[in-house]
Amino acid sequence: MNIVLLGIQGSGKGTLVQDLSKHLDFLLVSVGSSLRDEIATGSKLGKLIKSKMDKGELVDTNIVMDTINKKLSDNKKSIVIFDGFPRSREQADELDKICNVDLAIYLNLKKEDALKRIMNRLTCSKCGNITTRVKCPDLVCPVCNGKLTVRSDDTPEVANKRFEQYRLETEPLIKRYRESGVLVEIDASKTPNEVLKAVMKVIKWT
Ligand code: AMP
Repeated sequence: MNIVLLGIQGSGKGTLVQDLSKHLDFLLVSVGSSLRDEIATGSKLGKLIKSKMDKGELVDTNIVMDTINKKLSDNKKSIVIFDGFPRSREQADELDKICNVDLAIYLNLKKEDALKRIMNRLTCSKCGNITTRVKCPDLVCPVCNGKLTVRSDDTPEVANKRFEQYRLETEPLIKRYRESGVLVEIDASKTPNEVLKAVMKVIKWT
């Protein structure tokens, strides 16, 4: 089963896959974190990716597709979850060439709430765990004791650019997947646990 996660930045896609992984065996294709891994290598490609990310722009689709094809090349899992992909019509067309989308989970959250969450978000520099300043004011990861940091693109200026890019390029995909009958909308203003329960129910039905 191939599942895509759609939703504005800050709607909880990363938190959801983190929570789902405790209950479900799946291959996670998280483009954003694969791109951040490339940046961490310090490569020329990583520098190019960082320059786009720091401006809140989408990374070129050919780079994104390379990342995805690498992830899928030795996949043995029957469930694949695409987090943060596709983000444009071009990418959705590319995905259609590789596989069928069986389920599109749309985490619906207002922009104002998404911004509040982004401003509160912390990510572990060691294990990638996503948490909040409220939960971890000491900046120590509760999973691995690593240092919690603020993502370089989690500033109000860059977040607003990413929201605009989401509105223009990603939001139209909601209609596309609704029309093809695979879209399920989830109220992402609920707690992570409530969102997890709602999504688990949907996956079981599908
Ligand atoms: P995310 O971790 O999903 O919030 O993504 C962080 C940044 O990575 C985005 O603002 C883009 O610059 C880049 N990115 C993530 N996913 C994609 C994608 N599917 N296509 C292009 N760029 C992406």
